[in-house]
Amino acid sequence: MEQIDSVVIGAGVVGLAVARALALAGHEVLVLESEGAIGTGTSSRNSEVIHAGIYYPQGSLKARLCVAGRHALYAYAAERGIGHRRCGKLIVATQPSQLADLESIMAKARANGVDDLVLLDRDEAVSMEPQLSCVAAVHSPSTGIIDSHAFMLALQGDLENAGGVVAFKSPVVGVRLHGGAIELETADGTALRCARLVNAAGLGAPALARAFEGLPPTAVPQAYFAKGSYFVLGGRAPFGRLIYPVPEPGGLGVHLTLDLGGQAKFGPDVQWVDSPDDLVVEPARGDAFYAEVRKYWPALPDGALSAGYAGIRPKISGPGEPAADFVIQGVEQHGVRGLVNLFGIESPGLTSSLEIARCVADMLE
Ligand SMILES: Cc1cc2nc3c(=O)[nH]c(=O)nc-3n(C[C@H](O)[C@H](O)[C@H](O)COP(=O)(O)OP(=O)(O)OC[C@H]3O[C@@H](n4cnc5c(N)ncnc54)[C@H](O)[C@@H]3O)c2cc1C
Repeated sequence: MEQIDSVVIGAGVVGLAVARALALAGHEVLVLESEGAIGTGTSSRNSEVIHAGIYYPQGSLKARLCVAGRHALYAYAAERGIGHRRCGKLIVATQPSQLADLESIMAKARANGVDDLVLLDRDEAVSMEPQLSCVAAVHSPSTGIIDSHAFMLALQGDLENAGGVVAFKSPVVGVRLHGGAIELETADGTALRCARLVNAAGLGAPALARAFEGLPPTAVPQAYFAKGSYFVLGGRAPFGRLIYPVPEPGGLGVHLTLDLGGQAKFGPDVQWVDSPDDLVVEPARGDAFYAEVRKYWPALPDGALSAGYAGIRPKISGPGEPAADFVIQGVEQHGVRGLVNLFGIESPGLTSSLEIARCVADMLE
């Protein structure tokens, strides 16, 4: 049986960032990926927003890793020439009853160390974005957008320069944890032994961990899947910044994001689904977008939106439950030395990825 120092399951943005961090720390690293390319899962089905770290409960991993991850990501993107733009975002109250929501967003952000938010009255907001309709807004200047594929390619490049390897078409089908040893099997029957194993299988991480022989089943949370569909705006983007309504349960509301080419899209909405493969965008869901978007952009023309793509949030809390924090689970939580499971790495996982990686690498030292 072949012996490898460190194995990472999954070549999404988080798995690649973790693999890079382990390789830069001097470990021999193999990434096992089911698909034929990097970043084909949730990492290619998101908004590509660099979040500031505003909404998350104080002291949570989401809050801490997002704020630190955002700083790390801007620095890395600048250093490596990865396309990104610190375009800023406005969170808009469209009715007076939402003014209290803006106040609580400001307070939450301050508690998380996001100290550059500015509360704007209607006129100030409209002077920044003339097509906007609102009663007030919060401006977040440190929110931005990034070319997530270029980011993942840079991570893969660093990993490979440090001697790491990504093996594609290599789904992990079995893991045995016993007597301090970690043994894996891939679908083609290859058996490997490793000292460190990181389960970064995204939507599949809980199901995979449940099948690990030797891991207490109680350590693995229930997986839930919340689909988010996007609808693309034909024509020119009406705004230069990202525009978000106040958040809704399960997501951040039907917001407008921009890509680096200036294309605007709206979404993602929230639809609880049974399968992590349910990625079809139902055109009829777009009907509900018009009313939501017109609350802050009344000039949205009829027929301007077309079905885009969908992503699925890897949730570990179900409908109606408070949003769970990221779970980064090491020996102290599950008792297995050398194993780290990553569960519930939904948004802001892209923003946090470099910091999640630092945290996992520290746990495995
Ligand atoms: C709709 C939506 C919008 C989002 N927007 C943002 C945003 O704007 N900003 C932000 O910061 N975050 C955002 N996120 C969150 C972000 O996209 C995720 O946190 C991040 O992509 C998770 O990366 P990952 O590597 O953990 O998972 P994935 O990208 O899903 O990667 C997991 C990989 O594991 C592989 N795999 C699975 N099982 C196995 C197996 N058995 N063997 C081998 N390989 C396996 C899969 O093929 C996949 O490549 C959004 C998420 C969604 C759903």
